[in-house]
Amino acid sequence: MSFDDSLWHSTAGDSFEPRPPLPGDIDVDVAIVGAGYTGLWTAYYLHSIDPSMRIAIIEREIAGFGASGRNGGWCSALFPPASSGIARRHGADAAVAMRRAMHESIVEVGRVAEAEGLDIHYARGGTIQLARNPAQLARAREIVEDERSVTGDVEGLELLSKEQAEDHARGTRVLGGTYTPHCAAIHPLRLVRGLASRVEARGVSLFERTTATEIKPGALLTDHGTVRAEIVVRATEGYTPSLRGQRRRVIPLYSLMIATEPLSAEAWDQIGLRRRQTFADLRHMRIYGQRTADDRLAFGGRGAPYHFASRTRPSFDRNRRVHSGLREVLADLFPVVADFEVTHEWGGALAIPRDWHASAGLDRQRGFAWAGGYVGDGVATTNLAGRTLAQLITSQENGLTQLPWVGHSSRSWEPEPLRWLGVNSGRLLMSSADRSEARTGRPAKRAKAFARLMGY
Ligand SMILES: Cc1cc2nc3c(=O)[nH]c(=O)nc-3n(C[C@H](O)[C@H](O)[C@H](O)COP(=O)(O)OP(=O)(O)OC[C@H]3O[C@@H](n4cnc5c(N)ncnc54)[C@H](O)[C@@H]3O)c2cc1C
Repeated sequence: MSFDDSLWHSTAGDSFEPRPPLPGDIDVDVAIVGAGYTGLWTAYYLHSIDPSMRIAIIEREIAGFGASGRNGGWCSALFPPASSGIARRHGADAAVAMRRAMHESIVEVGRVAEAEGLDIHYARGGTIQLARNPAQLARAREIVEDERSVTGDVEGLELLSKEQAEDHARGTRVLGGTYTPHCAAIHPLRLVRGLASRVEARGVSLFERTTATEIKPGALLTDHGTVRAEIVVRATEGYTPSLRGQRRRVIPLYSLMIATEPLSAEAWDQIGLRRRQTFADLRHMRIYGQRTADDRLAFGGRGAPYHFASRTRPSFDRNRRVHSGLREVLADLFPVVADFEVTHEWGGALAIPRDWHASAGLDRQRGFAWAGGYVGDGVATTNLAGRTLAQLITSQENGLTQLPWVGHSSRSWEPEPLRWLGVNSGRLLMSSADRSEARTGRPAKRAKAFARLMGY
């Protein structure tokens, strides 16, 4: 089972003892489905606004079982869509407001962790994205120009020369890159497990090993009874399609990871990443990595297949082709890594809405709130979601509740087999575009055209 296989699981310092399931029908003010970051941050901020509120969280496995316990630990300001996409749909001011809210969220995660005594290995070193062929270098320029044209200097995204990029990370074939200071590397599972224990200690009820089957107005149906509630919050991200009536809301896409044993001081002298900057290169098929607090490399990437009918299964967390591909890419990037053992392989499901636009919102009439569709960028965004949902539910309208993602609704994904064909063709096209760019150095126009067609 992949949850147990992750580096994070073996270094969380937690017994993972399951909490009791729902004991039968109950009445609360707010019921939350899912004990990942979204559900737990929402409970955390709801309780801080109104400590008398009765809140119950229903979790099918245990807190942190989903993407929140398995991710790459980039607590970043990345938000889907990018600033230019937000500006196109909602205006430039909305894009700037979103950037600032994301920056605040990174700081807020660190602030709460410290205030609550959670040792989440938070290091705010920023993100270095390396350009390793001329096509990636052209993309680095485009990304920086695109961001600046919408938000000016707000993001602080810099275009780097070869020397500047290598000062952050000495990868192979580096031609330049981009750097933003807005990212912290964290231990993701320590954050989600810590949040669960803190909200529970404050009186929030957390029922584990309880499966929600349907959200109805005023009630959450589960396999252990009904939770009657004024508001039900859906915080199920990649698993959302398994809920009745939510099948085409998002698709689950698997992202897979590996981790090495701790590297030697000499190896780190060769690699860099002195401030634990999170790192990637600028290929289409996204990769991401961090230097962990105990000096390992944790490294992941997309590329695993989308499974027909949006199925999620523990066996999908492992894929020999993708996991061995990750080893090769990491050793190609930092050759010294080949001398060290890869100790962990795991994966998990993230969620993609049809228009690649994350959203949070409340339909008070239906008693239904939601947040999700973060694509692969949920670590900091879920904190923003939790604060925003708490404000919406307690009718404390303010700047957060005016942000452009609030109330946004994506259209549904196509029925099968179109969904399977479209998503998997896109995946193959992106990989082949990366190969062609590495070979020729020329930007693959097909990839861009397809990305537009798919809406990202
Ligand atoms: C491998 C990987 C790497 C990633 N790397 C990064 C990264 O570096 N930075 C970043 O910002 N984002 C990253 N992401 C995305 C990020 O982890 C997610 O966006 C975020 O954790 C979503 O949190 P969540 O609480 O909404 O969902 P989840 O953490 O998935 O939680 C949903 C919970 O709901 C429960 N659940 C589902 N269905 C039911 C049901 N019917 N009844 C009861 N409970 C249910 C699940 O068991 C689960 O615990 C990554 C994701 C993956 C998979």
